[in-house]
Amino acid sequence: MTARVLVVDDIRANVKLLEARLTAEYFEVLTALSGQEALEICERDQCDIVLLDVMMPGMDGFAVCRRLKSNPLTAHIPVVMVTALDQPADRVKGLEAGADDFLTKPVNDIALLTRVKSLVRLKMLTDELRMRAITGKELGFEQAFSDVLNEEFGETSVMVVDDQQASYERLVHMIEADHRVVVECEAQEALFSAAEGNFDLIVCNLSLTGFDALRLCSQVRSLDRTRMLPILLVIDPGDNARLLRALDIGVNDYIVRPIDGNELRARVRTQIRRKRYNDRLRAKVQQTIEMAVTDSLTGLQNRRYLESHLSTLVDQSAARGKALSVLVLDIDFFKSVNDTYGHDAGDEVLKEFAVRIRKCIRGIDLACRLGGEEFVVVMPETDASLAYTVAERLRQRVAGEPFVVNGGQKAIDVTVSIGMAAIEPGDTMDNLLKRADQGLYAAKRDGRNRVVTIAA
Ligand code: GH3
Ligand code: MG
Ligand code: MG
Repeated sequence: MTARVLVVDDIRANVKLLEARLTAEYFEVLTALSGQEALEICERDQCDIVLLDVMMPGMDGFAVCRRLKSNPLTAHIPVVMVTALDQPADRVKGLEAGADDFLTKPVNDIALLTRVKSLVRLKMLTDELRMRAITGKELGFEQAFSDVLNEEFGETSVMVVDDQQASYERLVHMIEADHRVVVECEAQEALFSAAEGNFDLIVCNLSLTGFDALRLCSQVRSLDRTRMLPILLVIDPGDNARLLRALDIGVNDYIVRPIDGNELRARVRTQIRRKRYNDRLRAKVQQTIEMAVTDSLTGLQNRRYLESHLSTLVDQSAARGKALSVLVLDIDFFKSVNDTYGHDAGDEVLKEFAVRIRKCIRGIDLACRLGGEEFVVVMPETDASLAYTVAERLRQRVAGEPFVVNGGQKAIDVTVSIGMAAIEPGDTMDNLLKRADQGLYAAKRDGRNRVVTIAA
């Protein structure tokens, strides 16, 4: 894994030292001698992680960190504060300024590389999500970022996995004021409850007596329902070999005994904030995908979705010898609805038309608006005679009851013409749609308000 690391320190010798170590590990290194310079580099989105000195003249590290974390353009870049060993209060202050982690000077090599690697790995995930969210730019993703930054967490839940009473009681005591805390003393139970419950974080003792904590961590990482659940390990000093394994498995953070309560609370908060941030991004991406295949006026699927999905359904039907039928629907004299009652009334008719379609079909059927007043319904495992029954029911539902528009002031009689085709051996999606289209054409020609089936 390689990444671009920005080292910020007002003392050139410190910059050179970190630069040399990181370069030896094949990281690409950028440097800045002041907070201002660092902010500019970050805003141009040129780095994957920032190592930030606390003590700098002018803008100190805390101020730089707060600025980075409150700007939607830079909030996703992980920040590691580099603090002096004799200033333990600075660590907590840094985490409270929004820093993702801290290192103490003189910087220990294992700590440097593990913190950097694990944060870079996390950022890769966030970048991927951001990229997909940006694809749906019109969704106002910048807003989503600041929403996440300003979001109140509401209730947050932490699972403590530990089978030593004195140890878990201490942990619980430190965080229970801020979070709902559940203790699990047994690995299988912990895994089960992590998959079932809505936890924001697992805090796990690495030196459990009853089972192997690393195995549990790897199981949490491999289950779909817990893959994204952050894990914070509690370790004994010097347990470096197992710590490295843990970080390889994908443990997100660790804290070394004896535990400083403020540090634990700050690390817990950081992990939860990051998880909520990524959850929100993921939801945005999902929403983007849904919008891309949904017709915004009616909420039905759009043409793009129809084209990709119908070809899959046709292939499946051919492979399994199952029936499949298609209706193409077009509202009659719709132009005159617009001309007589106005475009808004036309829109209301389209929406109500979509509602009536939905009421006539099953959940597994697919209803799409192709555009204008043209719709398609796809019905898997439905043969020609059943499809005809559905189409006829739909036609009657439209013709049988006027459409109410203009806020209830007008009721318009609407009819629909429907072309229908059922799949035949050797049919492609295009053939099938073409026959249904021919049916629609015939229905219009023969007087509208009718269903016409075209056999191959
Ligand atoms: P036919 O019975 O032959 O289908 O006649 P028609 O008037 O329904 O067909 P035509 O294709 O001539 O007119 C369709 C009209 O649909 C024209 C267009 O202004 C209107 N239309 C297309 N999209 C929308 C929309 O999103 N909202 C509204 N209100 N009208 C739309
Ligand atoms: Mg029409
Ligand atoms: Mg038309």
